[in-house]
Amino acid sequence: MKYYDKQFIDGVWREGSGDKIMENRNPYTGELIYSYRSASTQDVDDAYEAAKRAQPQWGATLPEERRTYLKRLAQVIREMESEIFQLLAEESGGTRAKFGFEYGDSLKVIDDAMGYHMMMDGRIMPSNIPGKDNYVFKIPKGVICVIAPFNFPLLLSLRSVVPAIACGNTVVLKPSTETPGSAFLIAEMFEKAGFPHGVLNVVAGRGSEIGDYIVSHPVPSLISFTGSTEVGQHIGKVAGELLKDVSLELGGNQVMIVLDDADADQAARAAIVGAYSHQGQICMALNRVLATPKVYDDFIKAFVKYSKEVKVGDPFDQQVSIGPLINRQQAEKVEERIRETIQAGAKVELEGKIEGSVVHPWILSGVTNDMCAARCEMFAPVCSVIPVKDEEEAIRIANDTEYGLSNSIFTKDLYKGLQLARRLESGMVHVNDQSIHHEPHVMFGGEKNSGVGRFNGHWVVDKFTTEKWISVQRTDRY
Ligand code: NAP
Repeated sequence: MKYYDKQFIDGVWREGSGDKIMENRNPYTGELIYSYRSASTQDVDDAYEAAKRAQPQWGATLPEERRTYLKRLAQVIREMESEIFQLLAEESGGTRAKFGFEYGDSLKVIDDAMGYHMMMDGRIMPSNIPGKDNYVFKIPKGVICVIAPFNFPLLLSLRSVVPAIACGNTVVLKPSTETPGSAFLIAEMFEKAGFPHGVLNVVAGRGSEIGDYIVSHPVPSLISFTGSTEVGQHIGKVAGELLKDVSLELGGNQVMIVLDDADADQAARAAIVGAYSHQGQICMALNRVLATPKVYDDFIKAFVKYSKEVKVGDPFDQQVSIGPLINRQQAEKVEERIRETIQAGAKVELEGKIEGSVVHPWILSGVTNDMCAARCEMFAPVCSVIPVKDEEEAIRIANDTEYGLSNSIFTKDLYKGLQLARRLESGMVHVNDQSIHHEPHVMFGGEKNSGVGRFNGHWVVDKFTTEKWISVQRTDRY
């Protein structure tokens, strides 16, 4: 794997000038991959200045030119496929299956963004003043700050960076300290695709040290943040005081409701994907199953059976579906939460081994919604099954959470599924499927503490542009 130890500012790879040496470690082996010097506030200033300088010219490129750049970017990504897999497996513990999803959707995000210039349409509006014409233009926001999480570092960076750039903005990207290589890899892709200097800049450093400086900087007009609710709320406060626009894609606590008329086996097979994909470290991962009396036992039996078949271990092994959590501390936190839930009265249906950063699947039953594993976003292959007496109780418990990202319902009655889905307080609901879904042309986003704003298609174009009214007086008015 190629190692990156430099920041990417104004098209130049240069050593960070921060005083911290940062370490990038392999979450499976714990080995040091490489170290680099953190970005300083001066580096952040330089990155924003470069983005600001580049924006007017980039914003003025013809739509077809921008499309050509994006086509080249997609081509570069295709050429770098095996390198990307290596990096994602090594620094984030992503398995081959997870890579397929992340890589495929990254290309789709670019493909869709090639048409975004067609959505930057304005309006010509009548005026009540004689001789006046009103024009409303949709224009780029300017410089956009993108802050990315560790779990899908390629896709969730590109999901913001690419639409921003497609709409004529320039970008400063700050990756997670756990996965800086993915952002530097993106910088290399942009370099290879020939983007002008300053269109994309990458500064890596700890959020707790340079995060507030990045968010409160006067240059960016939008902070596009994907990460935890806790950090998102903090960013919302800092940006709010400065009246800076935000897009916040935050945590989740998903349910799968399995109703009496559902096929328990089908729901259990779906739950395997929902609960264990990328070791449960997905904002849309399945945290709780709410099962009604007739399916409760059958669901648990099938869920345990299929869970035992899932292979856990080295993400480079093609047969492995569950790799390591992002670090050992995360596994320790998960173990503590499981113990607390068991002490509160939950039954262990499947006990997963915990070996360093690797957590095997856990299934807890007889859980109540106030127990730790049901309340917290576990972000691990741990699922709580909560018995409910009927669909009314299921809806009530499903909604009894601070989060509202993505949920699912299993029932043979599709119309009932649709009507119940409308009553779930989440931005997304999938009937007869699990909760992890992303289609780059379809709206994506959460309610409540799962976020503010919507991604993809015209939703992201609206967020990453602003509107401007220009009137033209054709006659002498005064
Ligand atoms: P996180 O701890 O909130 O970190 C996210 C990013 O914020 C990182 O780059 C982090 O940098 C940075 N950061 C931390 N403090 C900051 C500050 N004061 N100012 C600016 N930036 C700051 O989240 P994570 O652990 O990487 O990701 C997991 C979380 O993200 C989960 O809750 C998951 O549900 C959520 N998520 C949501 C979505 C969605 O679309 N809704 C998608 C993926 C993940 P450092 O790493 O340097 O601290």
